[in-house]
Amino acid sequence: MVHQTEQTPSYLDDTHLTEIVTRVVAAGRQDDGAAWVAVRDNLFHPQGGGQPADRGWLDGCEVVPVRDAATGLVVLRAADADVRDLDGLAAGDEAKARVDADLRLLHAALHTAGHLVEAAGRAQDWTYTGSNHFPGQARIEFTPDDPGPLSDAGRREEAADRLRAFVAAAVADGLPVTAAPGPDGLRLVSIGGLHTAPCGGTHVRGLADLADVAITAVKLRKGRLRASYSASHRTAG
Ligand SMILES: [Zn+2]
Repeated sequence: MVHQTEQTPSYLDDTHLTEIVTRVVAAGRQDDGAAWVAVRDNLFHPQGGGQPADRGWLDGCEVVPVRDAATGLVVLRAADADVRDLDGLAAGDEAKARVDADLRLLHAALHTAGHLVEAAGRAQDWTYTGSNHFPGQARIEFTPDDPGPLSDAGRREEAADRLRAFVAAAVADGLPVTAAPGPDGLRLVSIGGLHTAPCGGTHVRGLADLADVAITAVKLRKGRLRASYSASHRTAG
């Protein structure tokens, strides 16, 4: 059986690496007969941590990366369920991997902006409870200690403006975004000295790479505050 140790998560090393030649370390079929392979240098971010999967290709075949719960490996399934055979790839074969570069950068921008919105909410003394970095539905959720005043629309809009000011100042400073292993081996992602969080997603190199960062709505529901946001990458599109 092939294990996670035989695969390197190349997507964590460099967000801007979008093509690589690698080698197949395992291949098989799902219960429904659809083919899958796992590659040694894995370029593809699987869906997880609130971030969508990369769109990508292995040789000529469009694939969807999925983390296999049993082995921890990221396996590549044919995007088209009718494809029974990923170009005949078998363990040991060389293959060219490629991801959709614009989509990669959009996901990285949204993910990084999410950390920034999280930092802005924490600066309000709100407790962070969750995030979603999907295009068109990106949001960070918090539980404020005392949500009472925020049930007032005017107070909520003032809070939204404080988040906007925090985010705008950090983007204007162009803070660097870095990743490093923490004391327990977890990957820690930092925005300058502003914010550090354990994270296995893809990020931009610095806040100067972000464009169109906007907090579009702040809503309160059952004591939870949801800050919806949007962002793009300045070079994508
Ligand atoms: Zn992250």
